This record gives sequence, C-alpha cells and structure tokens, in this order.
Amino acid sequence: KIEVAALKKQFGDHVVLRDINLKIDPGAVVALIGPSGSGKSTLLRCLNLLVVPNGGRIRIGSDAFDFDGAKAMPKPKAQAKFRSNTGMVFQHFNLFPHMTVLQNVMEGPVSAKNMHKGEAEAIARRLLAKVGLADKADAFPNRLSGGQKQRVAIARALAMEPEVMLFDEATSALDPELVSEVLSVMRDLAAEGMTMIIVTHEIAFAREVADRVVFMRDGVIVEEGPAREVIDNPRQEATRSFLSHFH
Ligand code: ATP
Ligand code: MG
Repeated sequence: KIEVAALKKQFGDHVVLRDINLKIDPGAVVALIGPSGSGKSTLLRCLNLLVVPNGGRIRIGSDAFDFDGAKAMPKPKAQAKFRSNTGMVFQHFNLFPHMTVLQNVMEGPVSAKNMHKGEAEAIARRLLAKVGLADKADAFPNRLSGGQKQRVAIARALAMEPEVMLFDEATSALDPELVSEVLSVMRDLAAEGMTMIIVTHEIAFAREVADRVVFMRDGVIVEEGPAREVIDNPRQEATRSFLSHFH
C-alpha cells in the first residue's frame, strides 16, 4: 500500500506540490494526468526520493518517511532501501550505453542487492523474455529501437522487484509506430497485478488500463476517481477543459 499525505515541494519560492494526498492499494493502476508544469513528474520523483519533499509523509509498503523542511534527508542506507521500493521508467530510457542489454538488467540486483551473478542473470533473462527481448540479451542499447530500449528499461526496473512501478511519459519520446509495443508490456504488467503509477498523455490507454485517474493542476489534485468516470464524466471544469484537448 502506498500513502502520500500532505506532501509539499517547492523549488526556491516556487511551490510545485501544495498538499498532495493519495492512497494506492496494492495492485492498483493509477494514471496521473494534468497540464505541463502541474507537478506530475515532481510527484513521481518524490516517491523515488530523486526529489526531496519539503513536507509531508510518504509510505510505501512497510517503509515510511516524514519530511520536515528543517530535517536533513533520511540516512543514505534508509534512502537506498526506500528507493528500491520503486521502479522508475523515464521518457528517455537512461540505459547504460557501455553495457549489453543483459548487463543493463543485471546491474541493479548485482550492485545494489549483492545478488550472485548467476541468479541475477537468470532473473534478467526471464524478464527480457517477458518484455519480448530474449534475443537481444547480448546487444548494446545503441543497436535497439526506441521501443526496444524502453522495454529493456522496464525489465531493468522490474529486476529490483519494486513494490510499485512509476512510469513518467514512458511512450512520449517514441515514434508513433513503437508506442503500442511498450503499452502492451505495461498492459501485461497491470494484468499481473503490479502496482503502477503512470504519468501519460495516452488518455485512451489510461481509460482502458488504469483503475483510477488522478488529475493534477498547479500542484494540487483537482479530481480523482475511477478511470472511466473521470475520463468520460469529469466533475470539475478544469478536468473537462484539459480532457477536451484529447478528442
Ligand atoms: P510536464 O507535463 O511538462 O512533464 P509536469 O506536470 O511533469 O509537466 P513538473 O516537471 O513536475 O511538471 O514541474 C512542475 C514545476 O516545477 C514546473 O514549473 C517546473 O519548472 C518546476 N520544476 C521541476 N523541477 C524543478 C527543479 N529541479 N528546479 C526548479 N524547478 C523545477
Ligand atoms: Mg513531467
């Protein structure tokens, strides 16, 4: 279970997250939508401690942090443990260019979890098969298409066995014909019961795959509810206006 309570983030005097409250059940898929600059990426990055909140609380599974502007960051060890709860997939794939696909997927378990290489390789090969890339294990990232790179990035995040997968516009940088192969992997993960938070502009995908939709604007959650209700029948004018750009 994931709980975000009274979360705040500001950069200088620019308040980016005002008072974010969110509860996500295990296995739920949440689509996070909203205009550019509304704070979607910042919220995902807070969940991953890539960004340190100025206030509020985050609980993921059995790990919780209270953020207090005056206090320093949690200790490095606790940070690393907390971070390993989340698997993050970015718009730009961020694969290690000097490592093969297999090495990219093995890297996390071997270096962060001290896993035996043989075991990590077995896991990596299973995950590469799952994302349809078993035959690319020995290729280097620069030989892959964008869709293939993104599927490797998903396998790499899954290798850490996170409690939740965070997708930040995972298909936005892809050529249109490559989008569906990545969405299809995400759809399979959702069907298997992976807890997921997906920042996306693919509204049809959100409607189909997400259990809940959260609409953000200016650092606040304006509306939240079952995906079809929010997308087909938004209650707030701001949500309606935002969604009207998509059809
Ligand atoms: P988009 O749809 O364009 O990706 P977003 O909803 O993901 O937008 P964020 O990236 O979270 O929005 O940014 C929210 C606001 O915070 C923006 O005004 C952005 O300029 C600001 N911001 C984000 N990161 C930083 C940073 N590291 N330093 C200063 N300002 C930042
Ligand atoms: Mg963003």
